[in-house]
Order: sequence, then C-alpha cells, then structure tokens
Amino acid sequence: QLMSKQIFEITVFPGDGIGIEITPACLALIQAAIDKVGGLKLNFTSFEAGANYYQQHGVALPEQAMEHAKNSDATLLACMGMPSIRYPDGREIAPQLELRETLDLFAGVRPVKTLPGIPLPLEDARGKQLDFVLIRESTEGLFASRESFSINGSGSEEFATDTQKISRKGCERLFEFAFSLAKQRKGLGYKGEVTCVDKANVLGSFYYMRQIFDEVAANHPSLAASHIYVDAAALQLVRQPWQFDVMVTENMFGDILSDLGAGLMGGMGMAPSADIGERHAVFQPCHGSAPDIIGQGKANPTAMFMSAAMMLNWLGLQHQNSAIQQAGRFIDKAIELAYASGEILPYELGGSDGTEAITNKVFSSL
Ligand code: ATP
Ligand code: MG
Repeated sequence: QLMSKQIFEITVFPGDGIGIEITPACLALIQAAIDKVGGLKLNFTSFEAGANYYQQHGVALPEQAMEHAKNSDATLLACMGMPSIRYPDGREIAPQLELRETLDLFAGVRPVKTLPGIPLPLEDARGKQLDFVLIRESTEGLFASRESFSINGSGSEEFATDTQKISRKGCERLFEFAFSLAKQRKGLGYKGEVTCVDKANVLGSFYYMRQIFDEVAANHPSLAASHIYVDAAALQLVRQPWQFDVMVTENMFGDILSDLGAGLMGGMGMAPSADIGERHAVFQPCHGSAPDIIGQGKANPTAMFMSAAMMLNWLGLQHQNSAIQQAGRFIDKAIELAYASGEILPYELGGSDGTEAITNKVFSSL
C-alpha cells in the first residue's frame, strides 16, 4: 500500500491590517495540532502581499508568491486590502481576487456554524446550533460582467448594462461539488440536502441554472434536492436558518447571503471560508483588514483558526490522509471547548477578549 503524503507545502499571506496580528497565532495553533497528531510536517512559506505591499512596491501580489501558491498544496490567507490604498482607477487592492481567478477557485464555501456560549442575534436561534454551508459560485454570474460592462446611448438616453454569465460547465462543477459535500455531511449525520438558491421566476439565466441543478440532482438520488428563490431565502435565513443543510448559489447572491450568514454567527470574526477549485484551494476568514481596530489587540482570530481547520480537513480529503484531518478536528474541538467554557467573549460580541486572550484559551483547550 502507498504511504500517504506526510509533508505539505502551505503558502501563507498575512496580508494587511489585523491579518498581520492574527496570522502568527494561527500558524502556531496549526503547528500545535499537527504536533498533537504526530508524523506530519507542514512547511509554511509566508509572502507579503496586499495593499501595504502595493504602496511600497507598486504591485499587490508578487509573481513569485503567485507561483508558490500554484505549486503548494494549499494557501492560507488572513485578509488583504485597505480602504485608503487603491489602484489609480479607484478599485480596492484585492489580490485575493487574482488568486481566485488564476487558481480557478470556483466554489466559495462559507460554513455557517454557531458555537455554544456565544450570544446570537437571533433570539430563537439560541439553544439551537446553526450548522449549514453556503456555497457561492465564484468565477461567473453577474460579477463576471467586469468584462462585458458597457455604457451605451447618450444624453438622457444613456444607460449602463452588466451581463450575467451562467455556463453549463460552471454549473455542473459547482453542483457536483455541492452534492459531494452534502454526501460527506450525510455520512456525519446531517440531512443530506442541497438547496439551489436562484431567481428562476424572473431571469432566464437562473431558469437555465435551475435546470442544470435538476440534472445534477438526478445523478444523486440518495440526496435530497430543493429550490428556493433568493428573496425567500433571505427571509428563511432570518426566520428559520436551521432548516438548511447545503445551499448553493450564484456569485453575487452568494456574496450577499454569506455576509448574512456571518451575521447569524455573531460577527465577522466568527466566519471562516474556503475558495476551492479542482486542484487548488485558498482558506481565509470572511472578514477584511478591519482598519478601525488595528494595533489595539482587539482582532478576533477565531474565523482564521476555523479556516485553518477547514484547510487541514480539505488536505486530508485530497490526499486521503486521515491524520491531517484529525489535526483539523482538534482545532475545531478546541475552539468549541474554549467558547463553551463561557470564559471568553470577543470584543465584537460585546466582551473584552482580544487576540491574545482568545488564542490562549483555544491553545489551552487543544
Ligand atoms: P472588506 O472591505 O473586506 O469588507 P472591512 O475592512 O470592511 O473589509 P469587514 O471584515 O467587513 O472589514 O469588517 C467590518 C468591521 O467588523 C471591521 O471594521 C471591524 O470593526 C469588525 N471586524 C471584522 N473582522 C473582525 C475580527 N476578526 N475581529 C474583530 N472585529 C472584526
Ligand atoms: Mg466590509
């Protein structure tokens, strides 16, 4: 029998703002979890990139960093961008979008999982655990319009258009990904249901997307499949979010609903994410660089810790290595125990615990 891979190369981007404050704690936590399992080695190579790097060097993502990301087993990114530093055309510096494009990361995975001991915005969600996953298509949809945007006509007849692109290939790989995630989850005791979120009653491109969803669903008879219009989804995510298992949707809808999901978890600092392709994946918390709290020690590292756990789980699945998956589970368990103790509450949730206190509590729970 082949020995499973034991050495993993990880590209690391601390990025900007609070990213630089939370990354060292995250790498140390991964190392501790790996040591606890034993027999594994992760080589971390960190690169500077992002808004501050752009300001100093005139490029946001150095070529050798992109090359390293292409050749490594996974990429861990904290957050990039600063509202005050922009490209000459006014766009924000967001090299994470370049990574997404170059590495063809089509599935944005946003788990919405609540922890015990955290005050939640939904009163009636307290005492229940929210535990579903939103998958956002990340390469096409309305945001693909960056190439097809145009301004036409003139004077009082002038108008702008954006074009939504939904492709068969894009849908098929996205929905296959969603059903395979639902299958994994079913094995862990979840419902095993994929819900397609669209607006098929108004736009033809969404009707097309829904038909492809039904085709893919037919290949997975052991899993449940359902549809919901995006407006109804917004309502249900606030009224009864615990009804969902795996939700899958178009790029812009996913962008909007995943912030709603982060809100359901209690805050940006609690929301992890992964951008996954056929071969590559980038793991990063949902939050940005949070310039308002830089240097105050208030940054919540939990979302990045959870993203790291997702990375270890993904590496384990990619390389059939249950040991590295175990390391991911250790991190998830430590986070859960840390919060369940009732001894820590992040600043953003009204408490007085920042990077150091949260990190220490998670470490001592590992
Ligand atoms: P982006 O432009 O990527 O959305 P942003 O700088 O607007 O980035 P967000 O992630 O949207 O930042 O976060 C909004 C606010 O939430 C921040 O300004 C900060 O106050 C708070 N916040 C975000 N992440 C964290 C965190 N990890 N810990 C504590 N507070 C956070
Ligand atoms: Mg923001």
